[in-house]
Amino acid sequence: MGLAEIEARVRAAEAAAGRATGSVKLIAVSKVQPAERVEAVLREGHRLFGENYVQEAAGKWPAWRAEFPGTEVHMIGPLQTNKAKLAVELFEAIHTLDRPSLAKKLAGLAQARGASPDLFVQVNTGREPQKAGVLPEDLDAFVGEARAMDLPLVGLMCIPPEDEDAAPHFTALAGMAARNGLQGLSMGMSSDFEAAIAAGATHVRVGSAIFGARDYAAR
Ligand SMILES: *Cc1c(COP(=O)(O)O)cnc(C)c1O
Repeated sequence: MGLAEIEARVRAAEAAAGRATGSVKLIAVSKVQPAERVEAVLREGHRLFGENYVQEAAGKWPAWRAEFPGTEVHMIGPLQTNKAKLAVELFEAIHTLDRPSLAKKLAGLAQARGASPDLFVQVNTGREPQKAGVLPEDLDAFVGEARAMDLPLVGLMCIPPEDEDAAPHFTALAGMAARNGLQGLSMGMSSDFEAAIAAGATHVRVGSAIFGARDYAAR
């Protein structure tokens, strides 16, 4: 595995689904990975990354952005309201808008700055109590609320339950996005990104298949 192989698999999955080359963005999820692995992928020319922790991203990305122009970093982990200010300064997109209090906070920050990262609403398609995300039946109202706050919604995001076939979750999310007039679909990880592309993913979030296994103990 590694960047080149995963890029090739993304392009092949696009072609197999009859989708345009380059219509799927590969987010290299670099959370917890050692610096040398991330630098190797940057040197290979990749410029789109995903992070889960605001503090960790704040520590490592300013220097890499300066060294590798054109770099984009997306927030894909749960976002605490008290970290929202730092997050809007750090990330080009946030994939985890999941509650009205965070929407309000982001709207206030957007007004103050005159700019906002692109926003994806996270949907808890598996209705898992421990998982973040808006419940499917609450989504349309939440999208309406966020739009009324002038937030730049670009799509939906989901993390299917680990012990289930992901494909029905991807299909369901695509239906919810279409119904709400949203183009972006952030779905698919190392083990299932091809199925996500077949279902219409515009952003796949791939970590371990590019960088190798994460070692949380070494953080
Ligand atoms: C860590 C993470 C990923 C990447 O997971 P892999 O299985 O390593 O590809 C993708 N999405 C989210 C939300 C994550 O937290």
